[in-house]
Amino acid sequence: MKRDINTRQRRGWELFLCLSGVAVGCLLAWTMASAKSFDSAKSGDAARVVVVDPGHGGKDKGVKGPEGQLEKNVCRALAGKLEDLLADRYRVVLTRTGDYDVSAAQRVSRANHENGGLFVSLHAGGAFRRSVSQWSIYCLRPGGNEEPEGDRASDDRGPISWNSLQQRHAGASALLARKMRDCLSRAPIRADPQIVEAPAAVLRGVDMPAILVEYGYLTHPKTAAAFSRDTYLEAVAGALANGITDFFQHGQGD
Ligand SMILES: [Zn+2]
Repeated sequence: MKRDINTRQRRGWELFLCLSGVAVGCLLAWTMASAKSFDSAKSGDAARVVVVDPGHGGKDKGVKGPEGQLEKNVCRALAGKLEDLLADRYRVVLTRTGDYDVSAAQRVSRANHENGGLFVSLHAGGAFRRSVSQWSIYCLRPGGNEEPEGDRASDDRGPISWNSLQQRHAGASALLARKMRDCLSRAPIRADPQIVEAPAAVLRGVDMPAILVEYGYLTHPKTAAAFSRDTYLEAVAGALANGITDFFQHGQGD
């Protein structure tokens, strides 16, 4: 009898240990599967590179606002806010991280070297008439650029011009511009940007979908005052981040 009890107890323990082993195994497998799916989802986005280009810098101050605001400082501040919003999802590269001179060629070179998934250059507009202000999103004008001497890259098929590098992304750049316009228009910042094709030097040669966002005219007193407020900068950065995310999630035309 005593032996039967011992046998039953031993079998009970064996069953318990067996079930425990199965449970631990299932838990381990579930944990590993969850971690794997999280990692793969994260790496899909983290592998994307967003190049943010704060305009001007150093001796190049850009537009000056009525209260002395400088475009180069607003661009840098806005780029920093945008980086903060995007950093947990994408790898963000800034073409300028402080107040120093950076040429258009250096900005383009940095963007291409980092293998960017898209390029957004940030600028303010300016006008003699202070009542003028307009948001604009610029894409490179197809075929409308003079190619500087010696500005040539190359691929397996031989040398190609810097112009061609952006031209082959024309469709995707136009799509990015539309996504950005839609997100800015929906945002509470009351931006209603127009899309403009222009021979912007900093877009020529960028080998990825690329736009230049002109966030109103800094010479306009209300615009300048708005951009001196942190909350407004954050709202603009939020709308820009939505445009970027929307482009990546809903169709890259390339
Ligand atoms: Zn500018």
